[in-house]
Amino acid sequence: MAKESDKATAMWVLRRLRDAGHEAFFAGGCVRDMLLGTQPADYDIATDATPDQVAAIFRRVIMVGAKFGVAIVMRQRRQVEVATFRSDLSYSDGRRPDGVRFSSPRQDALRRDFTINGMFYDPVAEKVIDYVGGQDDLAAGVIRTIGQPRKRFAEDYLRLIRAVRFATRLDFHVDKDTEAAIRRYAKKITVISGERIYDELAKMLAAPSAAVALQKLHDSGLAREILPELFQSDKTWPAAVEQVAAVAAKGDAVLAMGALLMNLPKTAISRIVRRWGASNEFKDTLGYLSVNRDGWRDAVEIPLCQFKRLMANSDWQRLRRLWTVRERIETGSCALSRRIARRAGQIAPVQIAPQPFVTGNDLKAMGLKEGRDIGRILRKLYDAQLNEELKSRKKALAAAAMLVNSHNRD
Ligand code: ATP
Ligand code: MG
Repeated sequence: MAKESDKATAMWVLRRLRDAGHEAFFAGGCVRDMLLGTQPADYDIATDATPDQVAAIFRRVIMVGAKFGVAIVMRQRRQVEVATFRSDLSYSDGRRPDGVRFSSPRQDALRRDFTINGMFYDPVAEKVIDYVGGQDDLAAGVIRTIGQPRKRFAEDYLRLIRAVRFATRLDFHVDKDTEAAIRRYAKKITVISGERIYDELAKMLAAPSAAVALQKLHDSGLAREILPELFQSDKTWPAAVEQVAAVAAKGDAVLAMGALLMNLPKTAISRIVRRWGASNEFKDTLGYLSVNRDGWRDAVEIPLCQFKRLMANSDWQRLRRLWTVRERIETGSCALSRRIARRAGQIAPVQIAPQPFVTGNDLKAMGLKEGRDIGRILRKLYDAQLNEELKSRKKALAAAAMLVNSHNRD
């Protein structure tokens, strides 16, 4: 997978655009982060070159967003988003513009969501280009829409969540009018696709401030709309937030999602995952965490084979973290979690999920017919192997022969 653009790569792209006679600036989030003195996650470029012109200048360009004025320039293993200055045409559905028109830097600034996200930077002249009062709001710590809040939210209701995300991440406060509009429109967030909501939520939950973000989503009326499943009873939401708070410092969005959702019934979790259009991998993770959420109670006692099966999952470390949190919340101690850690520590990594000594072909060679019993016998043998009762293939084959014989006799 290609990596996000770093400053050097973005500079290289910017200079090439300028050498070809175009205007080009750093734009949006990276300008905000540079002015705050924090490391931008990536560097986006805004230019007067159209996507076709960009494609003519660079050797490797991906044109997926060309219709919306976005081209992706690839350089080495990095990708730089190069967007043409544009204005968004009317928004009829509260989700996306009906089209875009290429325009000026000023127009491009005005279409952006918040003042702090609406600035450009000229890295050659080392000058900020600010049409929207972004620098003042940055200095004052304010999240404010560019233009009338109601109008800007009604264009794209995802901005409601984005306001909360930036306020939390930067520890800024939301301007009074912007705040009032968020509350007023909170119910409208449901017109936004689950995929976009999920992306914003994942970003919030990946930060140490995850629980604060959830609290703000709740205060503004958004949480209830985004995750109604967590409001079926009075206790579910606060319990979920408490769990998220306990893991937020890890900065692991998947772990925090687990903490948020694992108390819900399986059907509710499936519904949420479907609504968010999340990957099967994410679905499996949540399934594993939720099915095993109370496993900390007996994990030191269950058979070794069962314990190893839990450990073999790629989300085992996450499950353990959540177990510790749950034990602490329920009992005030983490005595069991410590014993679980000890049990896990005594198991050699190669013993967690070793190659099975015996395969289906071995059983067939012994005369066992195809069918359900093959799976049952294989599982029995593998359990014995995981329990370290069968320590070699030779011993396992002998045990298999006995099982097959007694099976064929029945
Ligand atoms: P992050 O560091 O979290 O990625 P960002 O500011 O880069 O923050 P992005 O979602 O990557 O956020 O968007 C890049 C820029 O595009 C924003 O800074 C903003 O100027 C503009 N933008 C993004 N989403 C919207 C939107 N829904 N409405 C208006 N402008 C937007
Ligand atoms: Mg970004």
